[in-house]
Amino acid sequence: MNVALIFVVPLCAADCLVAQHFNLLSLCQSDKGIFGCAKSGSKRILLPIWAVRCVLAIAIGARLVMVLAMEPEPIRFSEHPIRAKDIDSDALRVLARLSDYGFYAYLVGGSVRDLLLGRKPKDFDVATSAQPDEIKRLFRRCRLIGRRFRLAHIIGDKGQIIETATFRAKPEDCGEAQLITDDNNFGTPRTDALRRDFTVNALFYDAQRQEVIDYVDGLEDLDNRLLRTIGDPVIRFREDPVRMMRAVKFAARLDFELEPSLRAAVVSQRAELGKAAVARLYEEILRLLNGGAAAESILLMDELRLLEVLIPEVSATLARADDEQYERIFNLLNTYDDVIAKGKKIPNGILLAGILWPVVESVLAELSSEIRPVQARELIEEITRPFAVRLSVPRRAMETALAVMESQLRFDRIRRKRNARSGFARTSHYAQSVCFAELRAQSGQLTDTEIEAWASLAQEFPPPPLFEKRTRGRRGHGRQRQRRGRQRR
Ligand code: ATP
Ligand code: MG
Repeated sequence: MNVALIFVVPLCAADCLVAQHFNLLSLCQSDKGIFGCAKSGSKRILLPIWAVRCVLAIAIGARLVMVLAMEPEPIRFSEHPIRAKDIDSDALRVLARLSDYGFYAYLVGGSVRDLLLGRKPKDFDVATSAQPDEIKRLFRRCRLIGRRFRLAHIIGDKGQIIETATFRAKPEDCGEAQLITDDNNFGTPRTDALRRDFTVNALFYDAQRQEVIDYVDGLEDLDNRLLRTIGDPVIRFREDPVRMMRAVKFAARLDFELEPSLRAAVVSQRAELGKAAVARLYEEILRLLNGGAAAESILLMDELRLLEVLIPEVSATLARADDEQYERIFNLLNTYDDVIAKGKKIPNGILLAGILWPVVESVLAELSSEIRPVQARELIEEITRPFAVRLSVPRRAMETALAVMESQLRFDRIRRKRNARSGFARTSHYAQSVCFAELRAQSGQLTDTEIEAWASLAQEFPPPPLFEKRTRGRRGHGRQRQRRGRQRR
């Protein structure tokens, strides 16, 4: 009875719709009833309606079997390490509510990857069959964002954002250039998994059934600690060149190997970075520097020749550096990583100084005469201007980077006079300059006398906190920045 229903009910509608749609069969009416009309060359063959139904039943049945066969076997609770206690309780509430209202809803992306690796996820993203307006109706603290692809930001109890997006489909073919400019088609869980960048980033977690769903063999790559693109890496990087930087970020941060064809594609497609939005490139550079694996990221960027495209001044400095200078550069970045591993945050300007300072030092070392402290600022600006212009670095961050680097060159003069010290302590970048000096000290760049001088200055004029408490107005900027970074995904 059930089987009959499955085939017969959709048949009546399907024989009209599907047959006419595909133009393989058309329906015609005669005084003897309705006939199916198949075309074979110039001949027309009339089929009784039951024969049309049989053909369609077979077609629909085959399609059903195909769809069912394509669904991967879920990985059950006992076979994976994800436990509810490790998942943000608000994210769980979002998943439960969507599911209670009959929608599919999964935890997706980096959170599933990190939970499977036993790491603490940075954030929890949700993908669902609910459309943006439906999501908005279900959650009180929810706002819809995004122009190209509308998605929901649901605010959790601790102020954290649970990004909730409708399943997406792979964007339309974008022609020769392959750069994706339109990314707003709704899709199914499978299409949503396939449009993601790397296999390990495309795992889904069904919190209701406590099962992991793997459409792309991501679990195997996760076990082998291998980063692999979903599909041909050359095409995926042409679609979105920022994925090359994401590859570096994940390989460095998670200590994964790059799958050989991915590695080759990064090298061959590196010039495509020129087609990406600079705001995204800048955001991605910051993520490389503050992700806790800055040293490894810069090393890998250099090895894959992405550095020569994005920050050629740093790759040239590395190429010129002797062993001692090379060690000095990476010691500083390793110090950044140690500090970040302790849960501390480093302001963007100081992050930038971490890669620009070695460039400045290397140019200064090549100058035939000593520069006067008053010339320091001008020289640093000249050296770093191409970088700031190329990546449209926001003025605020660049100002900080310039000021903290200048302070290192002028400190010897500043520390000698009380007036100069108190004047320096009143400047808007005093705290950042002290912080940068501390990072340099920790990495072994300062002499004991210099360390002492900075420490006594900090004692004499205690620096204010590096991060001001957020006010309502400034939070708005934060949101804008976040949107800028997430624009194209
Ligand atoms: P992180 O731990 O840094 O947050 P993540 O993997 O969660 O890492 P996000 O930038 O938060 O990275 O993106 C969430 C998910 O969205 C990714 O895991 C990936 O599945 C998908 N994604 C992000 N950017 C892209 C992109 N450029 N192309 C395809 N998929 C992407
Ligand atoms: Mg994330």
